[in-house]
Amino acid sequence: MIAKKMVKYVEGSSVTRAMFEEGKKMAAQYGAENVYDFSLGNPSVEPPKEVKQAIIQILEEDAPNFVHGYMNNSGYEEVRDKIADSINQKFGTAFGQKNIVMTVGAAGGLNVALKTLLDPGDEVIAFAPYFGEYNNYVANFDGVMVVVPPNKPSFQPDLEAFAARITPKTKAVIVNNPNNPTGVVYSEETIKKLAEIMEQKQQEYGTSIYLIADEPYRELAYDGVFVPYLTKYYANTIVGYSYSKSLSLPGERIGYLVIPDEVDDFENVICAANVANRILGYVNAPSLMQLAVSKCLDASTDVAAYDANRRLLYDALTGYGFECAKPEGAFYLWVKAMEEDDAAFVAKAKEYNILMVPGSAFMCPGYVRIAYCVDKAMIERSLPAFEKLAESYR
Ligand code: PLP
Repeated sequence: MIAKKMVKYVEGSSVTRAMFEEGKKMAAQYGAENVYDFSLGNPSVEPPKEVKQAIIQILEEDAPNFVHGYMNNSGYEEVRDKIADSINQKFGTAFGQKNIVMTVGAAGGLNVALKTLLDPGDEVIAFAPYFGEYNNYVANFDGVMVVVPPNKPSFQPDLEAFAARITPKTKAVIVNNPNNPTGVVYSEETIKKLAEIMEQKQQEYGTSIYLIADEPYRELAYDGVFVPYLTKYYANTIVGYSYSKSLSLPGERIGYLVIPDEVDDFENVICAANVANRILGYVNAPSLMQLAVSKCLDASTDVAAYDANRRLLYDALTGYGFECAKPEGAFYLWVKAMEEDDAAFVAKAKEYNILMVPGSAFMCPGYVRIAYCVDKAMIERSLPAFEKLAESYR
């Protein structure tokens, strides 16, 4: 018998699994060339060549015990030093190795942060639509998820609704910028107002409310749009970063948390994060990947390739009459379903061999997410199918 708590997760995961199986079945039936799978956020761009070179160099030059051994649960000191320096250079901050905890991707970082902060019943606020896994991560530590409803059609956070949801039990707020699933970038003005509200509420309630900035898509921003670095706006900020998208390394599971000196109870928070990394069973972030990314801090993914996909898809779909949120970041297009029921719309799209994810999976029914981290040629092939899908609703 599995744990009762696991039953609903297993049921939930079988929906995703079913979608994956459906895609495979459709590829066998219609030919892979004729199926347009926009469902997964797996980077289509190869990792930069620096990554492979760094891995080879590390394996050839460094002592195996150093490369493959255990280390401090927060990660290698010299890696954390280099990462802190690189952040300081980019954002004018003043972090040191003591502020960095290497993690098993952004997912590992979020779980470490939430284990560090949450007592059972503590509330965590997120802005719909959001990455559905947040619900599971918060539930891992018996926290309570509090959802701010979507602010249509801009999908910038609804700050009035946010303020109304902060209570004495609010322990953390998760902000994901650039955003999955909308592709929207929260503006500096929005972030300043959000920070003001959080400061006020901390004072009003005499509590500490931590802002968790989930930033796996930081570098994927287009048209020179500005992505604010949140520690500069609100002292109680913890940043979670990942190389999954920025270096196309999602399977390698590498990222980090930034915990600034300024966060409330800093010494305890940093110690607890170090212990959380260990006792969640991660022990430490993968050692080879820590060393590899520290040699690639100036490398970047081919943002132009995603940008070309974004323009192609956005221009075509809006031309066919689809209503899309302004896509400024990440690699997702957020589209209004052409009927009320997003699941029915996804099913209809499947009739044209288009696979996408219903907005309900992101706490925002009535919309769908199209992941354009795919081959440009597949987007080109898919356009007549999108056009027919739009026509079928006329
Ligand atoms: N947060 C968001 C918003 C994501 O979209 C993802 C992955 O798609 C993650 C976190 C997890 O990223 P990682 O692979 O670094 O664990």
